[in-house]
Amino acid sequence: MNNKNHIIQQMAVFGDKLARYGLVHSQMGNMSARFGKRILISRSGSMLDELTEDALIEIDLSGPGPDEDLASSDSSIHRAIYQKTSAKAVIHAHSPYAVAESLITLARTSHPPSSRNDTDSIAGIARNQERLKAHPLSRGVRGTEKSGSHICIISEEIETKCLLHEIPIVPENIDHLAKVCADVLSTNVALLVRGHGTIAVGATLKEAYLYICSVEHACKVRNLCRRAGVNPDFSPAF
Ligand SMILES: [Zn+2]
Repeated sequence: MNNKNHIIQQMAVFGDKLARYGLVHSQMGNMSARFGKRILISRSGSMLDELTEDALIEIDLSGPGPDEDLASSDSSIHRAIYQKTSAKAVIHAHSPYAVAESLITLARTSHPPSSRNDTDSIAGIARNQERLKAHPLSRGVRGTEKSGSHICIISEEIETKCLLHEIPIVPENIDHLAKVCADVLSTNVALLVRGHGTIAVGATLKEAYLYICSVEHACKVRNLCRRAGVNPDFSPAF
């Protein structure tokens, strides 16, 4: 993505899609693309479904400049990601199911649930804990995995499982959030910031958009399973 006009046109296209499909709202969320040693990023307060050239601003890849205050307040995260990875595009969205899942998963990982067949009895909890220990992916709850120091969602939905493999959840209230996000995205295509939203990277804005949508889809499926009384972390294996 070296052509600035093409980047502007793509930002308008995918900013509109993000809003149209409910993945961002109002002035929330942001996106950027790298070209050469510059980053084109949405301005602070801009609406992603109204992105024109005036709603974007160029900042330097190497560090903050005089226009930094005009850029999205997450510009330091975008810059850290470009400095650490080969990404050419970054999208951040406050997708509702993803936000909810980041909160639910971390809460449930702290207090692993019983399966549908187990009651909340002491015996049921003990059986549940034994099953968790036995599962090859589980260092927490099935459906989650610990990657480095981060709990990850493992989607049980086939397409997104293949595409994303795992979705790490990063706490929102840590020091050096930009560096942590960049580190995680050097080995993953998307992450969740707890209670906040998704950050996805790609070689193009289209690819980053695909990952934003895929995270939301995976989280929505988990939510719908729970609503139907099925624990997505304990779906029966065939
Ligand atoms: Zn945000």
